[in-house]
Amino acid sequence: MEPAGGAVKANRPARFYRPVGCLECRMTGYLGRVGLYEILVLSPDVKLAISENREIAKIRDLAFREGMKPLRISGAMKVAAGVTTLAEIFKVAPPIEHA
Ligand SMILES: [Zn+2]
Repeated sequence: MEPAGGAVKANRPARFYRPVGCLECRMTGYLGRVGLYEILVLSPDVKLAISENREIAKIRDLAFREGMKPLRISGAMKVAAGVTTLAEIFKVAPPIEHA
C-alpha cells in the first residue's frame, strides 16, 4: 500500500534520542511543549471538492497530494530534529488514515 500522501519520503535520521531526565525536567526527559500541525490549505481544488460535498477521504487524499503533511509525519520531523521522541508522537498523533 502506498503511504498516505503518496510521496512522503525522508532519510532515516542519523540518530534517535530517548528521554533520560534530570532535576530540571523532574526526571521526565521532556521540557516545554511544541506544536504538531496538519494544515489543510483551501486551494481552489479543495474548495471545489468541499462545495461538491465529496467524501472526507477524497478531500484528505487531495490535500495530501497537494502537500499537506499528516500529524505523524509532522511528528516524525520533530523526532528527526531531536526535539521529541517516537513514543511521544505515537501517544499524541493518530495513525495515518488511508484514503
Ligand atoms: Zn531533564
